Amino acid sequence: MKSFGPSHLIANYGKRPFDVARGEGVYLYDTSGKRYLDFASGIAVNTIGHAHPAFAEALCAQAKRLVHVSNLFGIPEQERLAGRIVQRAGAGKVLFCNSGAEANEALIKLARLHGRRLSGQEGQRYTIITAENAFHGRTFGGMAATPQDKIQNGFRPMLSGFRHAPLNNIERFAALADDSVAAIFLETIQGEGGLHVADFGFLREIQALCKERNILFMLDEVQCGIGRSGHFFAFEEAGVKPDAIGMAKGLGGGYPIGAIWVSDPHADLFQPGSHGTTFGGAPLACAAAHAVLDAIENEHLLENVRSLAPDFHSSLKNLVNDHPHLLAEVRGGGFMVGLGLKVDAMALRDAALAVGLLGVPAGTRAFRLLPPLNVNKEQLESAVTCMDQALSALAESKIATDGN
Ligand code: PLP
Repeated sequence: MKSFGPSHLIANYGKRPFDVARGEGVYLYDTSGKRYLDFASGIAVNTIGHAHPAFAEALCAQAKRLVHVSNLFGIPEQERLAGRIVQRAGAGKVLFCNSGAEANEALIKLARLHGRRLSGQEGQRYTIITAENAFHGRTFGGMAATPQDKIQNGFRPMLSGFRHAPLNNIERFAALADDSVAAIFLETIQGEGGLHVADFGFLREIQALCKERNILFMLDEVQCGIGRSGHFFAFEEAGVKPDAIGMAKGLGGGYPIGAIWVSDPHADLFQPGSHGTTFGGAPLACAAAHAVLDAIENEHLLENVRSLAPDFHSSLKNLVNDHPHLLAEVRGGGFMVGLGLKVDAMALRDAALAVGLLGVPAGTRAFRLLPPLNVNKEQLESAVTCMDQALSALAESKIATDGN
């Protein structure tokens, strides 16, 4: 139900036909009180669901102490959060920002500094290779790294210095990796591009290629990181060690915070004055991230994802068998699951919404289910039932339409 009259907002979002009032755990309630099973999770952001009591308490307590001071001062919560990220990522250093696009901008700048260090001068070595179908954000750096017409359209000319090759095709990446290349930059699991997973073998070959040619190996874990795959970082399972990582979305559990982690040999590329942000790593944002990391640890949420995801995936695969005219396959990993579609993703989104399930289209031919990491077995089963109902309704309306 919509509760407002004519909107004063710039109309650049395709909004769902209801206004939200509140959330609780995995459920979202609209202003009329209707309840939805929220597997959109604010687009892979609400790591521990809505209104998590300890999260809410941590934010309130921090708001009463200190919200913002800028990076002109030392911030103990920020220092401690960097330490927790280093514990997960390995020896290195962390720089905070506010969003995924900002994290990726920082990584693009890092690549340029790396190229300058190697070649001894600016403008010699600055090319970054990204994957076809990638999505790295909406800023000028992010768009240039995102080889999708629908993202770049209207905003050209793009920032120069980007090349693209098909994901999981090591020969094509290697062929582009000449001595003008400063970095290879990949999503471990592509989000907006349709839940395509970078093969473990491919990631290892990319790592070896980068090592051999002095290229930075950078991973965008903005969407797939912070436990969504069942590992803190999705790349962990492949056994690789990137030189730099971008993260955001799930880190703050709904409060905006992003970060880059840079491995020790490269962390000094940024020097005082070389990059910065007014808000990045503010005390309130750090308190939110600490509360998310606490919940991941105290509630064993990585284990929850790893134990429940296999059944969830196989139930969804059964839906592919039951609805072969609508579904092509199940992709992704952990609680970052995508249904590859033979129908328009918006149609499935609307059919799912009608039966009380929220998910997110990824392009026109994939539909994402992104439950919070603390979802339980019954709620996952409920989502599969909703999805089955939505697909049956869609099949019926398709027969009706095709028959006309
Ligand atoms: N990188 C990836 C992999 C993403 O999925 C997104 C957002 O969907 C971004 C970057 C951009 O993040 P933000 O929307 O926070 O700027």
